[in-house]
Amino acid sequence: MGRDISRSGKVKCKTVIRELTNYMEGRLSEPLQSAIEDHIKSCRDCSAQMETTRKMLHLVGDEQAWLNALERHVLKKPAATSEDAAHKKEL
Ligand SMILES: [Zn+2]
Repeated sequence: MGRDISRSGKVKCKTVIRELTNYMEGRLSEPLQSAIEDHIKSCRDCSAQMETTRKMLHLVGDEQAWLNALERHVLKKPAATSEDAAHKKEL
C-alpha cells in the first residue's frame, strides 16, 4: 500500500486512475486519500477523469447497482441476476 505514495507524499496518475472509484467512495486509507485529492487538484488529466467517472455514476443512478457491478468486476463473479429473475418468474 505504501508503495503507491512517494516519499514526498505524491501519487502517480496511474495510481489515481486505479483507485479513483475507491477514492470517490472514501474507501482509501488516509495518506492515500489525501495524496490523491492533492494530485487531482493539480492534475488536469486526472480531474477530467474524475469528472467522467462522476458523470458515469450519475448516469447509473442506482448506487447499489453500481456497487454490485463494481464488485462483480473486481471479484470476477458472473452476473447471475437475469437467471435468478427468470427462475422467480417460473415459480
Ligand atoms: Zn494525474
